Amino acid sequence: MLKIEKWVLGPVATNTYLVGDPDTNRAVVIDPAWDGKFLAEEIKKGGWQIQSIWLTHAHFDHFGGLADLLEALGQEKPEGFFVGLHSKGNLLWKVKGGAVMFGIKIKTAPKPDHAFTEGEILPLGNHQFIVHHAPGHSAGHVIFHCPGEKILFSGDVIFRQGIGRTDLLGGSYETLMDSIKTWVLPLPDDTRIYSGHGPETTVGAEKNGNPFISKDI
Ligand SMILES: [Zn+2]
Ligand SMILES: [Zn+2]
Repeated sequence: MLKIEKWVLGPVATNTYLVGDPDTNRAVVIDPAWDGKFLAEEIKKGGWQIQSIWLTHAHFDHFGGLADLLEALGQEKPEGFFVGLHSKGNLLWKVKGGAVMFGIKIKTAPKPDHAFTEGEILPLGNHQFIVHHAPGHSAGHVIFHCPGEKILFSGDVIFRQGIGRTDLLGGSYETLMDSIKTWVLPLPDDTRIYSGHGPETTVGAEKNGNPFISKDI
């Protein structure tokens, strides 16, 4: 069973997740939101080896800690290490994820060196995740689904009782609802959803209790 750790970090309380396979000590970090040095210490304490860093999308609050985390990991990165982002997130990346617009400064990190694609399989120890391109909150948004463990990392696509905002660069309400219909709602009801903000939920709970879903789907 995969181990999931969560930290709420940064100016807009973004969830950073560590997902680790205890059998191999391999782990990934999803959205290193803030406080990269702190994250590196926690990773060390847990005895994890970080094989890659997965960005759901390029809003500043989801990678504000990336530069410091990479620096702190230093040479300890294993072979094949990468930082992944969908190529449609490059534009947002270039403008630092909108940080300037919000009057926030973030440290420049090296550009992601892996472009996620729809349907891509990401192995983690003895487990596998599938990448789905789920635009609407931002053009290059992806979500990570592990069918074996029934878990979904949904970034800012869907939250408990909410959905991502669609008024920012590349946002579209219709596109977001389409992404939710295509990639989230067909999953088994007991699939746990770990969002970019707020508490965890399940597909079943959102099907029944999410006001946007009952209204529009
Ligand atoms: Zn966002
Ligand atoms: Zn966010």
